[in-house]
Amino acid sequence: MKYLDEFSNPDLAAKLLDQIRAVTTRRWAIMEVCGGQTHSIIRHGIDQLLPNEIEMIHGPGCPVCVTPLEVIDKALAIAARPGVIFCSFGDMLRVPGSSKDLFHVKSEGGDVRVVYSPLDALNIARDNPDRQVVFFGIGFETTAPANAMTVYQAKRLGIENFSLLVSHVLVPPAIAAIMESPSCRVQAFLAAGHVCSVMGTEEYPPLAAKYKVPMVVTGFEPLDILEGIRRTVIQLEAGKFELENAYPRAVQAAGNPAARAMLRDVFDVTDRAWRGIGMIPQSGWKLSERYQDYDAELRYSVSDMHTDESSICRSGEVLQGLIKPHECAAFGKECTPRNPLGATMVSSEGACAAYYLYRRLDLPAEVAHA
Ligand code: SF4
Repeated sequence: MKYLDEFSNPDLAAKLLDQIRAVTTRRWAIMEVCGGQTHSIIRHGIDQLLPNEIEMIHGPGCPVCVTPLEVIDKALAIAARPGVIFCSFGDMLRVPGSSKDLFHVKSEGGDVRVVYSPLDALNIARDNPDRQVVFFGIGFETTAPANAMTVYQAKRLGIENFSLLVSHVLVPPAIAAIMESPSCRVQAFLAAGHVCSVMGTEEYPPLAAKYKVPMVVTGFEPLDILEGIRRTVIQLEAGKFELENAYPRAVQAAGNPAARAMLRDVFDVTDRAWRGIGMIPQSGWKLSERYQDYDAELRYSVSDMHTDESSICRSGEVLQGLIKPHECAAFGKECTPRNPLGATMVSSEGACAAYYLYRRLDLPAEVAHA
């Protein structure tokens, strides 16, 4: 295949679905880790095409969704400071903190800017030497290399009016935390292809062996996802629990060595809180001691801010696959993409937003038309 739309070919999708139906003999619960995969599954109705025995559980792999409320509040506090230019990717501007979002800070006079790369923020810092520029660095192993590179460049170029508010999280510790949960129903994983394209696959075989779950590295197009599910079900039915790479056009076993070297230089592994899930040991990155001068939390003394999560929002249960979005009482009522109560309704990769956009009208009338 040469072009991306070939990975949506309906004839090939039908063949893969036939093969999945042919090998499925009992009920299986498979978690797709990544929010991009969730979006693709719901958008293309893949979960509705699968045999009834196969349930897709939507995992915690949406970076916006797992960023804790208190990190959003720290961003709001920093962005409201006079003299600060606060830069972020656009999807973080509508994520509600405990009382407002970054759009509100902007409307109140804060200098909040949407950028398309952390290096754009560094350029803004270089062009505004009398201002402080902060970039909101969130996300998984996928977004971290560019943020690491930006801090590395800031230090190399001596740009001291730049800092990074860091909230990076790592997939393998989250998989371990999901499997350790007493309420875990997950029997297999579609691992996130883009994370593995950076980090490689070496962390996954020990997890597959420890928890006795198949793991298949999977891409994001409909045929990628169907192929990942097909390979997963074959392993489940055979009682195997191995790592397979179903996304070889993007993923090498060693990942991206240059990106990994940059990450090792700039970040240290640390404990991180995940929104709705809580603290997971050694599940994130912070700036290493060599780069602490670029740590916005230290520069603006916001490390001690703590915020409680909303008592209405059940995004933590959604992120752990314990409920589907429409089982939350606020879904489509108090909580919509226009007025989100939780991050899973804000981000386009969030499971609640995906259900609202693509599945709402299929749900019971009291939910769909609320
Ligand atoms: S529908 Fe809204 S309130 Fe309910 S879990 Fe999702 S984000 Fe939270």
